[in-house]
Amino acid sequence: MSAQKIAVVTGANKGIGYQIVRGLCKNYDGIVYLTSRDEERGKDAVAELEKENLKPRFHQLDITQQNSIDKFKDFIANEHGGFDLLVNNAATAFPQKSNVPMPEQAKKTLEVNYFSTLRFCEAMFPLLRTNARVVNVSSLLGHLSKIPSEAKRKELSRPDLTIPELSKLMEKYVLDVQSGKAETEGWGSSNYVVSKVGISAFTNIQQRIFDEETPSRGISINSVHPGWVRTDMTGNKGHKSSEQGAAAPLWLALEANLKGKYVWDDCSVVDWCAK
Ligand code: NDP
Repeated sequence: MSAQKIAVVTGANKGIGYQIVRGLCKNYDGIVYLTSRDEERGKDAVAELEKENLKPRFHQLDITQQNSIDKFKDFIANEHGGFDLLVNNAATAFPQKSNVPMPEQAKKTLEVNYFSTLRFCEAMFPLLRTNARVVNVSSLLGHLSKIPSEAKRKELSRPDLTIPELSKLMEKYVLDVQSGKAETEGWGSSNYVVSKVGISAFTNIQQRIFDEETPSRGISINSVHPGWVRTDMTGNKGHKSSEQGAAAPLWLALEANLKGKYVWDDCSVVDWCAK
């Protein structure tokens, strides 16, 4: 069992996640796990970082597969007994011009970005050690104001909203898309928006749960917009390189003293509920 600090980054074989691992390898005083759903892509990424004399460790992790989550959890528990930093970075987005029917897009996007992230957190959170940090990579599109309906915004930001209630809302969104009612129900037209609003709403609730724990582990969880970043997800369009996009998540992981906040790419705290 190691007493060393342990960091875990999901979806880290490329893009912003890769650069978060790279930054952690340079500045985190502990062991850094680069995880990837595809073993070959993950190991290639580790080999790339080794060329810079950085030494992340690799573990396979597909957040949509419960057996992959379970294996990873058992590995961390057996190898280290717990961990100290989790960056939930893995996510998916359909290109704007995708021909995939909307109901299918909504189901997949919500499944990866919201439900799988949630299931992974539920599995891993018991292993978080005292003063651990969790960083959820959200988006500017995860700001509450991106949901057109005021009634929906009120529900999503209710101070006593629970995670099962939030998940029910996310399930309802998928059903509303399937019945062609998403826009009339006030969700707007983007499944990615709903999935990222879900992650930021989850962050608020989860901080409340951590704060109410007895004994308290003093855990912080924040969500962050990394900026508009040139990665595969954006078709390599954007204002920032993936290294620049990793800066705000790295700040939350390494330096910030914040709890339950929604943070912009310039590291400023933004009111998630502001219109
Ligand atoms: P990329 O598409 O470059 O990277 C996404 C990563 O997530 C890849 O490693 C991908 O793996 C991984 N992933 C996808 N599905 C799964 C899964 N089921 N299990 C594990 N890993 C998975 O995107 P970015 O680097 O741009 O995005 C990183 C984060 O930043 C995301 O949360 C995104 O929503 C967010 N973001 C990005 C912005 C941007 O402008 N780029 C703006 C705002 C937010 P694989 O290679 O196997 O597909």
